[in-house]
Amino acid sequence: MSLLKLHLLGSPVLRQRSNEIAGVDDEVQRLIDDMFETMDAARGVGLAANQVGVARRVAVIDAEGQRFAMVNPLIVESSGRDTAEEGCLSIPDVYGDVTRPERVVLEALDRDGNAFRLEAGGLVARAIQHELDHLDGILFLDHLSLMKRQMLLARWKRDHKDDTSYLKEVQAASSRTE
Ligand SMILES: [Zn+2]
Repeated sequence: MSLLKLHLLGSPVLRQRSNEIAGVDDEVQRLIDDMFETMDAARGVGLAANQVGVARRVAVIDAEGQRFAMVNPLIVESSGRDTAEEGCLSIPDVYGDVTRPERVVLEALDRDGNAFRLEAGGLVARAIQHELDHLDGILFLDHLSLMKRQMLLARWKRDHKDDTSYLKEVQAASSRTE
């Protein structure tokens, strides 16, 4: 397995609609394994493939004890409404309150290519929706009010004005404390 580089806000692949996976082959499984490793090292609760520069419909989740990969994921039902703070590995140090459905039913393929259905609430439901948004080129910033979004973007641009690339190395989590 290997750590992948994260694509940060500004990288065009984050705004692309990712492509369906025709079949879960060795290459897709390797991508999933590398994404898990990268998410763990970055201490994320979810990661979509385009965040590591691959425009394919794959994401991984690790939240509230539920750890799974989802290939070609679809939300087939959603209900309720919940507002909570979100952040994103592609937009470090930026946070905002996002309102989303509170519960979702997910249908996807797993790492072995088998179809599964999962009912989720809380942080898991939020992470699933956040990652599915990524696969459609949508960022959590897009759910904020125009004023809040412009404020956060202005701060981001100021903090990143000297950046020469959209890529960020993830350090291996050698000494996890949590
Ligand atoms: Zn994100």
